[in-house]
Amino acid sequence: MLALEDVGRRFASGTEALRGVSLAIAAGDFIALLGPSGCGKSTLLRLLAGLDQPDHGRVSWPGAPAGPGEIGFVFQDPTLLPWASAADNVYLPLRLRGIGRAEARPRVNEALARVGLAGFEHARPAQLSGGMRMRVSIARALLTRPKLLLMDEPFAALDEFTRHRLQEDLLAWWQDAGCTIVFVTHSIYEAAFLARRVILMSARPGRIAGEIDADLPAGPARRLDPAYAALVAAITRRLEESHRAAGQA
Ligand code: ADP
Repeated sequence: MLALEDVGRRFASGTEALRGVSLAIAAGDFIALLGPSGCGKSTLLRLLAGLDQPDHGRVSWPGAPAGPGEIGFVFQDPTLLPWASAADNVYLPLRLRGIGRAEARPRVNEALARVGLAGFEHARPAQLSGGMRMRVSIARALLTRPKLLLMDEPFAALDEFTRHRLQEDLLAWWQDAGCTIVFVTHSIYEAAFLARRVILMSARPGRIAGEIDADLPAGPARRLDPAYAALVAAITRRLEESHRAAGQA
């Protein structure tokens, strides 16, 4: 669906954020980009979204490129309008396309119900917990049925219980929506739990240090599956190897 070929990005400040990144993303993939802070994960997401251009290499959509609204973005901060209700926050992308509130209402309510927020349509962000605010943010991103959903550490600020619930629900939403997800995280556990492919990134300039196939059976039982523990160990080992190799270079 989408390919990065030998992509490099150096900012005007001189910081080289990415070098030689090649990655093919198939429709329906769930990819975790795992790496330390500052290794260029967010820069890579912006390139995938077309919000930034590489200085080297290219980003291409071999089939039909994503049209307007077909790329969703979810950030660590839910970025909700504080004065607007949950429903109006979810409605925003349709409003920007000129769709009337009454016409949009069934879709908005359905999106909120999908993320477990039926009955909270009129609540303002300040009346919702951190996890609920993130649910609103995800409902807003899924509303336009994106082909590609880019998620930049969306659960990093949440407590562990909330994070686990959201991770479990996200797998169900991904399967329902049939979209492709690229999920940035610096949590090995989160990458192993969620993704089908874990892409390991090395420190600046960000490069792909390896890839681990992580296609475990889905569902909350995954966390207790010995195969999950083995996967966490395998990712940890690969990261340590790549740190050692970088230290010797
Ligand atoms: P990550 O998401 O992995 O934490 P980023 O992609 O945000 O990493 O940043 C990679 C590197 O590029 C960092 O050193 C960061 O300070 C730098 N950087 C990011 N955006 C810009 C920018 N617009 N101008 C200059 N440097 C930037």
